Amino acid sequence: VQPPPSPLHAFRTAVRRAPDRTALAYFDGRLSYAEADALSDGLAGHLAARGFGPGDRAVVMLQNTPHFVLAVLAVWKAGGVVVPVNPMYKAAETRHILDDAEVRAVLCADRTWADHLRATTAATPSVRIALTADERGLQGRHDPRVLRGAPAGPQDGADDLLTAARTGGPAPAVPEPAAADTALISYTSGTSGTPKGAINTHGNISYNAERQRTGLGLPEGATYFALAPLFHITGMVCEFAACLATVGTLALAYRFEAGTVLDAFLEHRPAFTVGPSTAYMALMAHPDVTPGHFASFHCMSSGGAPLPPALVERFRADFGPYVHNGYGLTECTAPCASVPPGRQAPVDEVSGTLAVGVPGPDTVVRIVDDAGRDLPFGEQGEIAVRGPQVVPGYWRRPDATAETLPDGELRTGDIGFMDRDGWLYVVDRKKDMINAAGFKVWPREVEDVLYTHPAVREAAVVGVPDPYRGETVKAYVSLRPGASPAPEELAAYCRERLAAYKYPRVVEVLPELPKTASGKILRRELRQRA
Ligand code: ATP
Repeated sequence: VQPPPSPLHAFRTAVRRAPDRTALAYFDGRLSYAEADALSDGLAGHLAARGFGPGDRAVVMLQNTPHFVLAVLAVWKAGGVVVPVNPMYKAAETRHILDDAEVRAVLCADRTWADHLRATTAATPSVRIALTADERGLQGRHDPRVLRGAPAGPQDGADDLLTAARTGGPAPAVPEPAAADTALISYTSGTSGTPKGAINTHGNISYNAERQRTGLGLPEGATYFALAPLFHITGMVCEFAACLATVGTLALAYRFEAGTVLDAFLEHRPAFTVGPSTAYMALMAHPDVTPGHFASFHCMSSGGAPLPPALVERFRADFGPYVHNGYGLTECTAPCASVPPGRQAPVDEVSGTLAVGVPGPDTVVRIVDDAGRDLPFGEQGEIAVRGPQVVPGYWRRPDATAETLPDGELRTGDIGFMDRDGWLYVVDRKKDMINAAGFKVWPREVEDVLYTHPAVREAAVVGVPDPYRGETVKAYVSLRPGASPAPEELAAYCRERLAAYKYPRVVEVLPELPKTASGKILRRELRQRA
């Protein structure tokens, strides 16, 4: 794999190669590569004129909109570092990031600004520049004015993002980013504690984007649909950067909503998308879904969260496509193992786990014990990754860097195993193991069984304190439309299929399970609830 030095380099190549091709499609709005180039130049010029320079950090806090893409390109064109932040974050969460990354500029929606960011940035001395986009316009379905119309009006203390893009003047003359330069500081979404900033370099992103391009074999100009949020590493790399590498069209639809996404599939006819398994569950449960919605796809992928084998089967039986698994983390800049197109991942006979894929060509995955020694094929241990997509470290956290990346090898915190054919299996997160009277229970295995029950839409299994066993297994589920089994029936279903210490003693039905913005089910929140 021979990637260009940066995704910005890939973008500039695309602008030269196909200036008139649609780069971004948003409901009825379209931007060509040349238009996106001119607008991001203007935005970069605006930032530079206000003192934003090489190495400075900018928070980009927007949903899947053209504005997100323009903001990212502009920050890179100004030599800066993007700090993507979930727009749903509340004041305290953003405040931590603004302080920790000493952020100089903030690019967000006007409502986010009015709701809390203005106050938060006022308390953060490093923030000097704010640019906002009209939120009502951003959400406007089938409204081409989103990209062309007049701004809603200046926000208190902020400039309008699109006006700045149109009037900001030429982009500053800064050197192109080198592969080793920082592109992103990605704060981990915090399913496991206080967020820390992983440093994704331009080379990390470019490598994984190029690898996806070559691996998928999509034709130049293919349409990608952004199912995962772009502020999450999966969206940033597998959707945005990979689309640039293909000189493709990126179709966006604000944020995940099953009906809107299904409409967008028919409108944009995408060839590729990637999202968490929970997004597929929501699409499958939508009353209007038909096989025709997926007819344009060359490949559909799931990544960033466990993919139950029962979901893959159900999806294929009901709608046609095979959903490809992929395994990654923020710290390896999205995927480090994936299912090669045209292949199907095997299911492990003993545990019933679906393989996540095979490691990329330049990637070394080891299964190690606590001392970092290699374990034999088939044996479970921690997954360790070394490769061109692995981050060099965490932002200003030498302690965390030394602990998680000893010698540059990433200790993922995930337990897995490898078979003799090179397929990698993820068992679960090390810290989610349930200890039931000394027996190890991996929640994933129990969840995979629950997913084979026709009534189950989402499932999450956690350990709850038990006076006799220390911990016992509890399952939370949400149900498919029209289904109403008794919780005891679901527990009995698992009991028939799992060893006595593994089946959930208690099953609780919730209307919906709590999730992160990237669609991952939050076991931590369920543990607290239990
Ligand atoms: P935090 O690191 O704070 O806990 P997070 O879990 O959301 O936040 P990410 O980097 O987004 O951080 O998630 C990576 C994790 O997602 C992996 O470590 C793994 O546990 C899980 N994961 C990703 N892909 C898969 C997959 N295909 N199968 C099973 N688990 C997966």
